[in-house]
Amino acid sequence: MVHALLFFSALRPLEWAKPLILLLILSSASSANAIDVQVGQAVRPEGAVILVVDGLGASYVYPEHNAYALDGTLLKKALLFNLTGSGARVVDLRVPVPETTKSHSVLVTGDSDVDPQLLGPTIFDAARKEGYLCLAVLERGDAMPMLQEMDAVLYLEDNSISGSEPITGFRAGTPAGLCSLFQEWRDKFASYTEAQGVAGYAGYNCWGLDAAADIVEHLLGNHFLMLVNVGAVDSAGHNLGLEGYLEAVAALDVPLGRLAEACRKNNVLLIITADHGMSFQSTEDKGGHSAEKYAKRLEALRVPLVVLGPGIDELNLGGRWSEVDIAPTVLNALNISCDHPFEGQPLPIKCSYDLSVVGAPEGVALLRDGRLLANASGDWQYNFKGLERGLYSIQAGGESRDVLMNGDLVLDLTDRAAPLGSMKKIIAVIIIMTINLAGAAVIIRIWRR
Ligand SMILES: [Zn+2]
Repeated sequence: MVHALLFFSALRPLEWAKPLILLLILSSASSANAIDVQVGQAVRPEGAVILVVDGLGASYVYPEHNAYALDGTLLKKALLFNLTGSGARVVDLRVPVPETTKSHSVLVTGDSDVDPQLLGPTIFDAARKEGYLCLAVLERGDAMPMLQEMDAVLYLEDNSISGSEPITGFRAGTPAGLCSLFQEWRDKFASYTEAQGVAGYAGYNCWGLDAAADIVEHLLGNHFLMLVNVGAVDSAGHNLGLEGYLEAVAALDVPLGRLAEACRKNNVLLIITADHGMSFQSTEDKGGHSAEKYAKRLEALRVPLVVLGPGIDELNLGGRWSEVDIAPTVLNALNISCDHPFEGQPLPIKCSYDLSVVGAPEGVALLRDGRLLANASGDWQYNFKGLERGLYSIQAGGESRDVLMNGDLVLDLTDRAAPLGSMKKIIAVIIIMTINLAGAAVIIRIWRR
């Protein structure tokens, strides 16, 4: 209604219609007001690290899954205690496309059709609006638009494990201490990767994880979102075959533990996932993931997702989920709102959730086990924040209804709040209808001119 009116008034501005237009906008805006009621404790992480272990298939590290070669052989697995030991672990999460650059773009946009060369709105854009620093430590695999999202970036362009040199990039205004820390880590790369064979691959990943842990410690007291991509598990799968792949995976455990500890100490969320897995023709062959014979295999499509940190539950989440759910989950866990609609949904992995009750102008009471937790009145929408999982009841307009909280929820009572009963409501409805009829008249008049 208001949109239509503004559209027509933009075409043919009418001086006499302006007060009515304003009145309509105001009557519409008043229904968008909401009262926030903090019921449980508010949780606000300092920031988040998203760790992408390039090429790590859940089939090789999750106790629930097995990995098979294309020839049917049951494959060995690797132990990663710091991945599977705690936090919220999503058992079955798949990537839409098992290809590095595309998948990294899906991860930060939540859009399965994203073009890595254009990217569009990302979780970094949403975080920057809230004053977060946007940072990245990237070992290959990302297009320029991803690097341009960042305030500070440490990036390896070269594909080789040793002998390559990371580059740094900074936006104007990035704190000087952070720039010199990124430069220090650029200079440490050579010493991490001088070993030959699998040890060189392990060192390559260890550099990325240790750099990330050090940056987290340096950023105490700052809000930040950091993307970390370690590339050597993928390289080991492609170059060394299954044995080398599993050794490179197992070698992640110790540096991953150091990163997890740095995040825990500083109240920072840690999200661990991968861009795709890895599939092998046999125990003797080198691996792949994007070629046609591999790309439909669960070994290539199913990736780990573990989230650790403030406000996150300890659980194994069942059901089938997608990589597109990660972007809204990260913003939801950081309490960052985003106008842009997501393809996926926040995963129910938090300790507490928000219940929004809409359309109860006479007020709402929230109860649990017959005990009053909170009440609010005088508005159209009430946001009860911080509710643990479980059964609650909502009392509004003389009625009670049960609500099961297991994720953020909107309870719309608009239909129930029909214009029956009090004289006050009838008068309110007459006023709203009059305003709407006046608005319709304005549109018709403008249209006819
Ligand atoms: Zn990859």
